[in-house]
Amino acid sequence: MNVPSDLRASRQFGDSRPPHQVSFEFFPPKTDAMEERFWDSVTKLAPLNPRFVSVTYGAGGTTRERTLRMVSQIQSQTGVNAAAHLTCVGASKAEVDAVVRGYKEAGISRIVAVRGDPPEGVGKPFVPHPEGYRSAAELVEGIRRIGDFDISVSAYPEKHPQAPSWDVEIDNLKRKFGLGATRAITQMFFENADYFRFVERAQKAGITQSIVPGIQPIHSFKQISGFASRCGASIPHWLAERFDGLDDDPETHALVASAVAAEQVLELVDEGITEFHFYTLNRSNLVLALARLLGVRPD
Ligand code: FAD
Repeated sequence: MNVPSDLRASRQFGDSRPPHQVSFEFFPPKTDAMEERFWDSVTKLAPLNPRFVSVTYGAGGTTRERTLRMVSQIQSQTGVNAAAHLTCVGASKAEVDAVVRGYKEAGISRIVAVRGDPPEGVGKPFVPHPEGYRSAAELVEGIRRIGDFDISVSAYPEKHPQAPSWDVEIDNLKRKFGLGATRAITQMFFENADYFRFVERAQKAGITQSIVPGIQPIHSFKQISGFASRCGASIPHWLAERFDGLDDDPETHALVASAVAAEQVLELVDEGITEFHFYTLNRSNLVLALARLLGVRPD
């Protein structure tokens, strides 16, 4: 393959430490069996010294206690920085602020601040709580009033399904940064070109902060395509083709999934991307392999 030598260098790290920074996203487990898998994955990924490990928050606060318990335990048991997600759907400002204060008291200094969706899903219009924050931007502003948190927000390489135009989408991101967000993490995407176009639009609008690609390894094509359609991310035809007919062939499915994820991540590396956020779905195997390709190994 004709890869220019400066690009080859970015994939090969030799004795020097790679420049890549990773973060890992988990969801709070519901059952004992799920909790076992959660800890197994956290324990395997924590030694990679991620920038942070984050735990999602059920929109409407359905996981409030579990999210707090998991982030607190991750931080105390592994020493890795933990970030708690937070949404503002279905809650008053006072309720959301109480959660933020709870994070602060528990020593959590990182928050992934997102609006959340109505219980019917992203397809339905978002109706703010009458006394609540009306958007992620307002939520960021509210969090900043309470403490000096490191705040990550969302970004959408394919545009959020509810954004009426690219201008609104980019303005919204800019507003979130203006109100105190530290970085953005993207929704999953499978066409790297969408991500690069998005970053270009953001930079043209004067955004200088990091827009970290959110990478979704495909443990199950069926499950991930369901998630993608619910959150407005598209599944390219070529990707569907690659997994076509593999529902009953887990071994080939797993090999194709590693190849697809490796291709995506290394293409981003070739274009100079150094920060990655992995949606783990509480599994470690594919993510461990991808981190290794990035030269990220246990300390
Ligand atoms: P916002 O940034 O508020 O914006 C949503 C859309 O509305 C944008 O397209 C924006 O352009 C548009 N908009 C905003 N303000 C205006 C305005 N004034 N006028 C017109 N349009 C406007 N969900 C959970 O329930 N729990 C989680 O833990 C969680 N974690 C996530 C982590 C990441 C990295 C990402 C990318 C998403 C996450 N989500 C989570 C999903 C998220 O809640 C949904 O995508 C939700 O639909 C939007 O949230 P947001 O923070 O992007 O909203």
